[in-house]
Amino acid sequence: MNKSSAYFERSKGVMPGGVNSPARAFSSVDMDPPFIERGEGAYIYDEEGNKYLDFVGSWGPLILGHGDEDVVKGLEEVIKKGTSFGAPTKIEMEMAELMVDSLPNVEMVRMVNSGTEATMSALRLAKAFTGRSKIVKFEGNYHGHSDSLLIKAGSGALTHGVPDSLGVPEEIGRNTLTANYNDLDNLKAIFEANKEEIAAVIIEPVAGNMGVISMTEEFARGLRALTKEHGIILIYDEVMSGFRVSFQGAQSLYPGIAPDLICYGKIIGGGLPVGAFGGRKDIMSMLGPIGPVYQAGTLSGNPLAMRAGFETLNKLGKNPEFYKKLEAMAEKLEQGILQAGERHRIPVTVNRVGAMISLFFTDQSVRDFNGANAADQQRFKTYFKAMLEEGIYLPPSQFEALFLNVQMTEEDLNQAISAIDRVFSELP
Ligand SMILES: *Cc1c(COP(=O)(O)O)cnc(C)c1O
Repeated sequence: MNKSSAYFERSKGVMPGGVNSPARAFSSVDMDPPFIERGEGAYIYDEEGNKYLDFVGSWGPLILGHGDEDVVKGLEEVIKKGTSFGAPTKIEMEMAELMVDSLPNVEMVRMVNSGTEATMSALRLAKAFTGRSKIVKFEGNYHGHSDSLLIKAGSGALTHGVPDSLGVPEEIGRNTLTANYNDLDNLKAIFEANKEEIAAVIIEPVAGNMGVISMTEEFARGLRALTKEHGIILIYDEVMSGFRVSFQGAQSLYPGIAPDLICYGKIIGGGLPVGAFGGRKDIMSMLGPIGPVYQAGTLSGNPLAMRAGFETLNKLGKNPEFYKKLEAMAEKLEQGILQAGERHRIPVTVNRVGAMISLFFTDQSVRDFNGANAADQQRFKTYFKAMLEEGIYLPPSQFEALFLNVQMTEEDLNQAISAIDRVFSELP
């Protein structure tokens, strides 16, 4: 037995499923996960010393790759002065200023410790602001694991075959209405049937948890117009797309459409645990201590997390060419996948928004959850395992997006593309 499998066995004795987050167990691809020992640039190394080109990037945060020198230097500086005070610090202010200055429609921001906390808190705020208690989410969109959002969710909740978790009380589920992504008629019908009852609509403007699927322009406009008409708060969940699809996130892909609240996470922590929510000042001002909505966190705005996030966003902001490079690489990858598909007669659909990209084993276009679900998941498993053997570390599910980082080179991409070609040639 290799070290990873031995550690996995030991972990399973003391941690449910051997992991702290379900997708890491690789159960969706029927294999034991490698235990990762270290990362460097675009690569990660497991406990055996195997080297993998990393297309997971900690599920999104590591857009600068592993061990970015500015992030590391910043963390070293902070750690010497103390890791946590539970008191206001300058770096929190600088981080908030950087976000407010960089992002459209973010007038004020509050930092939390995960994306889950960000969406959960934004919803509480929307309910308080409107005095209503129902929310609308979209099938296949994932917003973390808080009770009211764990209904028809994407990501790990999909591959585990239990879209609705046990332990989420029915009465909470009743206040979460589920709509079809990119379907305005469906949304209209839901709004009409629940007049004056819906506090908020939460959406991944570029969804990444049912594979990559983005809002159509028409849907985005209709969604904003309808929510305004019904006095409903529109929340963009940009935990994945923020600072990923472009520096200003998915918002900037739909110019002229302003959400009321926006949630962030992943990249804004630069690899440390962070989330944030922000938006309109009149809504954000309802938060304690200046308003009646309670929300708090012992480690919220932690100096290490703030510094890692600050260095990451600062570097991204100063290097707009990073996004051009990421997009060019993703485009090259897309072409490589499509060509391999053609060459070896493997039906494959690639969805890509900027540098967010995912592949579905189907010849149909994929525009919503049902489309994603109709793709060949058995074939994906075979593909995934073969790619891992080729030294390419992909997210272990067809419902997850691939993440590129700025440390990747032309050569890395060529290596990935030839691996895909070899693996496609042998797919049953
Ligand atoms: C990852 C993710 C979350 C949850 O964030 P955590 O930090 O894992 O709690 C929420 N929304 C979206 C869109 C995500 O991709």
